[in-house]
Amino acid sequence: ENFMPRPTRRRVLTVANQKGGVGKTTSAVNLAAGLALHGVKTLVIDLDPQGNASTAIDVDHRSGTPSVYEMLIGEVSLVDATQASSQTPNLLCVPATIDLAGAEIELVSMASRESRLKEALSREALDQLDVDYVFIDCPPSLGLLTVNALVAAHEVLIPIQCEYYALEGLGQLLSNIELVQKHLNPALVVSTILLTMYDGRTKLADQVTQEVRNHFGDVVLKTIIPRSVKVSEAPGYGQTVLAYDPGSRGAMSYLDAAREVAERGVSREQR
Ligand code: ADP
Ligand code: MG
Repeated sequence: ENFMPRPTRRRVLTVANQKGGVGKTTSAVNLAAGLALHGVKTLVIDLDPQGNASTAIDVDHRSGTPSVYEMLIGEVSLVDATQASSQTPNLLCVPATIDLAGAEIELVSMASRESRLKEALSREALDQLDVDYVFIDCPPSLGLLTVNALVAAHEVLIPIQCEYYALEGLGQLLSNIELVQKHLNPALVVSTILLTMYDGRTKLADQVTQEVRNHFGDVVLKTIIPRSVKVSEAPGYGQTVLAYDPGSRGAMSYLDAAREVAERGVSREQR
């Protein structure tokens, strides 16, 4: 049960949904921690100026720290912007500082503005870090930062909150993904949908779950992340929920989801 398969090829997953508060950061950080805790070396790239993933992994992200911003404008390399988590072995993070807030506008006038993250995540640089997984945590918008994340990735992971209006806006995300597939990254696939913040007491949560499964089929993970206070408390302690309370339902479901992600990756490659 403890075994977590390693992929035969490195996987780069972008965690995207232009809605805020649906569980992008929580999912990126805790899926990464689930893999890392089982010996699979994993990098989280914080691409949101809010820096929530950096907070949860507890890496330095004060203004001026070498971060994803300096990486995008070509001032530092991936390796120089990467910090190791002090709590979770095998977990690395490129932090986001407030300096990223202006990047969306600054990038507009830059050369190859859509593929700057992809260029920073070169095979050589990722080999040097020796990571098996990269999770890119997107901001809640469909601007240039998210486009950079979609261009740099092999896969998109969409967290969907089990709430009313959950599917609203998803069409816009999917058509942006199609545009990126058409013009910039033909190999990109929406490989994974993760249902988050499930509240079993409401009938609505089940309706949303069913609707998402009917619409997206096997792309939806079997594991559903429950709404849990522990999950929301953990970042306040600079921790993932897997470190904060490993026995909690939230931690165990993120671990199950991480294992599903890992196992699916392997079977997809074997086909
Ligand atoms: P996003 O990155 O999409 O904006 P977050 O991951 O930051 O979303 O989640 C939004 C808020 O909901 C945060 O305060 C987070 O701690 C909380 N949250 C996320 N997942 C859960 C969960 N399963 N149970 C309870 N609270 C959660
Ligand atoms: Mg976030």
